[in-house]
Amino acid sequence: MELANKHLLKTQNYIGGQWHDSPAKLPVCDPANSNMLAELADAGPADAEAAVGEAHAAFPAWKKRTAGERAAVLKRWHQLILDNTDDLARLLTLEQGKPLAEARGEILHGASFIEWYAEECRRAYGQTIPTHNRDMRLQTIRQPVGVVGCITPWNFPNAMITRKVAPALAAGCTLVVKPAAETPLSALALCQLAQEAGLPAGTLNMVVGSDAAGIGRVLTQDTRVAKFTFTGSTAVGKILMAQCATGVKKVSMELGGNAPFIVCDDGDLDTAVQACMATKFRNAGQTCVSTNRIYVHESVHDEFVARLRTAMTALKVGHGCEDGVTLGPLIHRRATERVAQLVEDTVAAGATIEVGGDFLSTGVNYYAPTLITGVTDDMRIAREEIFGPVAPVQKFACEEDVIRRTNDTPYGLAAYVMSENIRRANRLVEALDYGMVACNAGVFSTAAAPFGGNKESGIGREGGVEGMTEFYETKYCCYGA
Ligand code: ADP
Repeated sequence: MELANKHLLKTQNYIGGQWHDSPAKLPVCDPANSNMLAELADAGPADAEAAVGEAHAAFPAWKKRTAGERAAVLKRWHQLILDNTDDLARLLTLEQGKPLAEARGEILHGASFIEWYAEECRRAYGQTIPTHNRDMRLQTIRQPVGVVGCITPWNFPNAMITRKVAPALAAGCTLVVKPAAETPLSALALCQLAQEAGLPAGTLNMVVGSDAAGIGRVLTQDTRVAKFTFTGSTAVGKILMAQCATGVKKVSMELGGNAPFIVCDDGDLDTAVQACMATKFRNAGQTCVSTNRIYVHESVHDEFVARLRTAMTALKVGHGCEDGVTLGPLIHRRATERVAQLVEDTVAAGATIEVGGDFLSTGVNYYAPTLITGVTDDMRIAREEIFGPVAPVQKFACEEDVIRRTNDTPYGLAAYVMSENIRRANRLVEALDYGMVACNAGVFSTAAAPFGGNKESGIGREGGVEGMTEFYETKYCCYGA
């Protein structure tokens, strides 16, 4: 693998500021062609326990640092990531599959959390509270919660880590991170740069392993871990939350979605198509905020479908490192076959394929950008997270109808509304039971704003002021006069 900075290719676990080997090996492969990229030390539960021990030992000193001292380390880390953007993007594309331009975007987005929380940590104010009794003084102070266990997915191998690690470190916590086994190279490269930035040994630890359940048990049940934060599927999130319950561990969960994309009759169709393409085909549809159900008002349905079809045929499918490619492979065969099965079921249930609908011979895990019309709410594709480049379209007749239908899901992460009528847009934004609603926009995530879900899509928020409070305890201090 050609990298300008060869130090970024790490194949060992990062525990207590040291790189640790392990006899068992974990292969990491390019999803576009199954070529092996590297063999990593395959960590197990014992390594996770050692990492928790290091994080626990490092916590008192890191907590005692001033906000300014913590900010200085985070700023150096941020700068090193920017300096190595090209290599980090290449590593990300090779192990994850997304086009290089998207990978670069993720590295910059991921780095922005580190910068934002380096700034925010100076503003961890407590309060002086007007007293109920003149002989008492009331205050609150904010203190870091302690050691944080963290499990992240493969769809954003960089940003899903920095979005948790940056606010936790800024708050004064220490961490053990388990990245997804599919995409550990991006994660370990971040540790290398954190080490170069001067992050003290044990403050950030990383274990990469094929035994996700075993490592997960340590991070959710070791009594030295105070808080557990997870991004991944709702099914796994429920298991991990249950494990955290035994020790009443604090939890944050970023789970699955079933995002509706609503095109009103007063929507600007060019904006709608552009936003739909961005939310549906970014990362080949493998994001938790990907459009999952497209609802188009019956009066503009045919025109919207025609324009979406034109935009989709302009997608360039191929290896993410090739020039001009806008759609890469899916993460692995299992994911690709699941998408194909979902499309087959949808057609069997009576829907119509307008474009695509099959595997592509471009490489091992490619699925064609697919447009389906005649979808109904009872179909599996409208109820489950697709996680692939498939756009299922339904019609709606009126506002009340679309609000009822889009809210009829256990999920509540992101929703999209396309309308030029400000009153209608406001009504819809307020009525949709989702943690995030984007109006006339397709890409909305930023370090400055709280990201997270309602209902079974999660607990807590990442990003913004809210993202940092997840890593604090608020202590109430009462002083007798
Ligand atoms: P996805 O379908 O996107 O892979 P998962 O929820 O399966 O979502 O995976 C997200 C993260 O959770 C990954 O790091 C994966 O290794 C981890 N994971 C999967 N199953 C478990 C489990 N039973 N316990 C702990 N972690 C798990």
